Amino acid sequence: MLRQVAEGVLIHGSEFCQSKAVVVQGRAGVLLIDPGVLASEMACLANDLRELGQPVVAGFSTHPHWDHLLWHAQLGAAPRYGTARCAATVGVQLSDADWKARIAQWIPPDIVGQVPLDLLGLITGLPADMVQIPWDGPHVRIVEHQAHAPGHAALLIEELGVLVAGDMLSDVLIPMLDLNDTADPIEDYLAALRLLEGVAGDVDVLVPGHGSIAGADQVRARIELDRAYVHALRDAGAPVDPRVGPSATFGKDWLPGVHERQLQRLARSSERDGTPG
Ligand SMILES: [Zn+2]
Repeated sequence: MLRQVAEGVLIHGSEFCQSKAVVVQGRAGVLLIDPGVLASEMACLANDLRELGQPVVAGFSTHPHWDHLLWHAQLGAAPRYGTARCAATVGVQLSDADWKARIAQWIPPDIVGQVPLDLLGLITGLPADMVQIPWDGPHVRIVEHQAHAPGHAALLIEELGVLVAGDMLSDVLIPMLDLNDTADPIEDYLAALRLLEGVAGDVDVLVPGHGSIAGADQVRARIELDRAYVHALRDAGAPVDPRVGPSATFGKDWLPGVHERQLQRLARSSERDGTPG
């Protein structure tokens, strides 16, 4: 079911990991950001859009992780975009014949049969100097940063006050750093949070890729919470963070493990570099 969160901006939720697909109405159809996860959910979304008389005229994937790269044939054949770095990363993965088989192993077994991988990752990279999505609708500014995944982009729809945050600023997921071949994942993440802080004043509605939507009054609190978590990781301390604390209601069986693995990987890389702490 589609829910309006701002004038001409609609959200379609997924059962998987509280995922949110975002629909932005343009003049001749909609921009669809991170379409969803299960085939039935994307077909439902396609159906809703058909009933509204709104074809999909452009797609966008916020980052090169499988749950943000999916598509369904019923959504049509509009161009699907990502940042140049996102598309390059996906291109390398797609050229590996075993990639989809590996992805299928990461998907929870109870849903893997319902996740359509045939149109996975068929995106076009936008030129690195392109600052907005090329489409006929409200200006959608690409706020690219290196934090959670290569070429991760948040999208700011300034005239509507909407920030689509991808896998940043979630109220249910702790910051998950990109620890693959990145020189300084902690500083990258902190820089990305500063970048998002720089646009926070323009945000009335924050839509994270997973979790719940926040109003203007919660945007800075989410940034602060993420920053405190990343500082705790940097200092190898125990974070005081409700998302992995005893009161957490989401991901209790796996998020603490994600946190432990991040601590261990960062400890290993600082040993390797010979840097203290
Ligand atoms: Zn992700």
